[in-house]
Amino acid sequence: MKIIELFNRKERTFSFEFFPPKDEISAVDFGINVGQLLKLDPSFVSVTYGAGGSTQERTFTLVDYLQNKIGLTTMAHYTCVNATHEKVVSDINHLKNSGIENLMLLRGDPPKDEKDFFLRNHEFRHASDLITLARTLHPFSIGAAAYTEKHPESPTLKEDLENMLIKFEAGTDFLITQMFFDNETYYKYVTLARNKGINCRIIPGIIPITNYRQINKFITMTGATIPDALAEKIMSYKDNPDKIYQTGLDFTIQQCIDLLEWGAPGIHFYTLNKSRATIEIYETLPKKLKN
Ligand code: FAD
Repeated sequence: MKIIELFNRKERTFSFEFFPPKDEISAVDFGINVGQLLKLDPSFVSVTYGAGGSTQERTFTLVDYLQNKIGLTTMAHYTCVNATHEKVVSDINHLKNSGIENLMLLRGDPPKDEKDFFLRNHEFRHASDLITLARTLHPFSIGAAAYTEKHPESPTLKEDLENMLIKFEAGTDFLITQMFFDNETYYKYVTLARNKGINCRIIPGIIPITNYRQINKFITMTGATIPDALAEKIMSYKDNPDKIYQTGLDFTIQQCIDLLEWGAPGIHFYTLNKSRATIEIYETLPKKLKN
């Protein structure tokens, strides 16, 4: 099913993001965790794609499996960084022929240490170029990435939103945000996007905080800010993984409740291929906010 059709039936969607397991042991672990998560009956699931195609085969195999063997509404992520027109057309047609109707279309990140990468003659400089092309190939449901605290390459949020409008007008059906911890950034972003005429669903992407090192890594990677009170609490429990887990869980449950009560159209969980925290969060959400 196309995700935009789901939107006609559901006020809110709850979706899970996975990455392709890297080896046999991770694949077993993945199977166990996904098996648990599927009991929550997600609206859709998505599978990431390594920029430059590093996970291409595993991403394509996994989306095929989840869509056709398990029967889930599945969205394939796909990045265009460093790809040729011919390759993109061939890959997107391959996904279409596998029965994939939902794509998360991204630019991806350039190789590290190549600062002037996009100044060179690349066919796809922005995700909007990829979205424009995909629109000509098949009537997919197309998602794209949004950054409530601006994309790290954008000088200002205002400029980032101007570029977002181009991406929206190229044919984006819905947006999923980068992880964030301060809901005010989401509320402000949605308001500014609406004022610009970006009127598709903007689904908050939420990561359960479960572990100190991992969360520091993501904050450095994405530039997401973390509320002082939460940062202090997590720091004080630095050497106590159980306390961090519980603090993170309590925080994320409240974060999701606030978002849904405000009117967010669901939650996209960055599961990191783990099930425990996402299940505990989802099951704790009040029933009236899950319909
Ligand atoms: P773009 O939309 O092209 O934006 C990148 C920068 O260029 C921004 O600063 C933007 O303002 C600017 N820009 C955009 N259009 C224009 C324009 N027309 N003119 C001038 N400037 C412009 N990465 C992966 O490798 N694999 C994944 O599976 C993956 N999944 C993701 C899922 C989500 C929900 C999110 C939020 C991110 C994901 N990413 C993934 C990360 C993403 O690839 C990076 O953040 C990347 O740096 C930007 O990709 P984008 O599609 O947002 O790029």
